[in-house]
Amino acid sequence: MSSRSLDTELVYLGCRPEPQYGAVCPPIFQTSTFAQDAPGEYGDYDYTRTDNPTRTLLQQMFAAAEGAKYGLAFASGMAAIDCVFSLLKAGDHVVTGMDIYGGTYRYLHDVAARRGITFTQAPMDDEAALRAALKPETRLIWFESPTNPLLNLVDIAMVVQIAKDHGCYTAIDNTFMSPYFQRPLAMGVDFVMHSVTKYLNGHSDVVMGAVMTNHDVEYTHLKSMQNAIGPTPGPWDCYLTIRGMKTLAVRMRQHEIGAKAVAEFLAGHPKIRRAIYPGLAAHPHHELAKRQMSGFGGMVSFELDSDLEGTKRFLCGTELFTLAVSLGGVESLVQQPAAMTHFEVPKAEREAVGITDSLVRASIGIEDPQDLIDDLAQALERV
Ligand SMILES: *Cc1c(COP(=O)(O)O)cnc(C)c1O
Repeated sequence: MSSRSLDTELVYLGCRPEPQYGAVCPPIFQTSTFAQDAPGEYGDYDYTRTDNPTRTLLQQMFAAAEGAKYGLAFASGMAAIDCVFSLLKAGDHVVTGMDIYGGTYRYLHDVAARRGITFTQAPMDDEAALRAALKPETRLIWFESPTNPLLNLVDIAMVVQIAKDHGCYTAIDNTFMSPYFQRPLAMGVDFVMHSVTKYLNGHSDVVMGAVMTNHDVEYTHLKSMQNAIGPTPGPWDCYLTIRGMKTLAVRMRQHEIGAKAVAEFLAGHPKIRRAIYPGLAAHPHHELAKRQMSGFGGMVSFELDSDLEGTKRFLCGTELFTLAVSLGGVESLVQQPAAMTHFEVPKAEREAVGITDSLVRASIGIEDPQDLIDDLAQALERV
């Protein structure tokens, strides 16, 4: 592992001249297969499902980003989650949080359950409840911090301690913070997973996932699954993500500048019931945020002092913010969890955790923060 900063390391890895012509940008090895010298005699590569040089470089950048020994690329965030779950077998049990990414919830219900893997959802901020949810057959604690869309934080050190006491794995979905603001492996987490689709690629033009770990045996298993199952991204998407990751650090800094400005504007606006951002002193986990993250990220959620219709008028009234799911791109997006990302959760359940009809989630891009604030201000006039 290098002692260089993330800014330097990602540019360095992504711009090392290639040996044949000295091209400063990495070539795209857009090939499915590699010629052999004699039957069974080949160099580092034989077939792209197994491995591809463009993917190898990207995986090195993934590892560097999380300060990990190993990084692996997958065709989507969900494929990355599936690969981590391939470490489990029928009869194993998983503990997870109450408000987790909808796709993860669906995966646990529709995929893991069919394979005989059961799960329990526990409030991750309640140590006693979390310990009580563990069973003798619990093999994994899967969690997110901050959560989506309410941006609640989980005490990572506490979860790691509980897992150590119990003798099970921990895996965190680190998508929302990106490795720039949160490094869970250094806190003892076993696996970090990313929807690369979001901040790591950062340009909303690729769907991809990643897993990072320091464990040798588990890495060997996960890598063999890449080959055995084939949930791997193609060379072109790997190239786009290499290109995107070179600017991860500058993008994250600008996302945070914009998010802070937007959160402060919203917190003081009369039509906003509450603004949720871990960087606000009023956020319930602000102290924990300062302790376990090196920044507060680019996601802001807020509740309008209005109803479903008023919230819709606001969301259809923005000019810079695009109404769309996803996050982490250079462009700002807004969405209404109750109608979009979390519509599958029954209304009563939604409201019990705080996902009301007037809740809005914003992904703050890298535009000039004042322009974003002006856009929100004019859209709020329609509420
Ligand atoms: C988007 C997302 C995923 C799923 O990733 P895909 O790349 O869409 O498969 C998982 N977790 C979180 C937190 C996400 O935002």
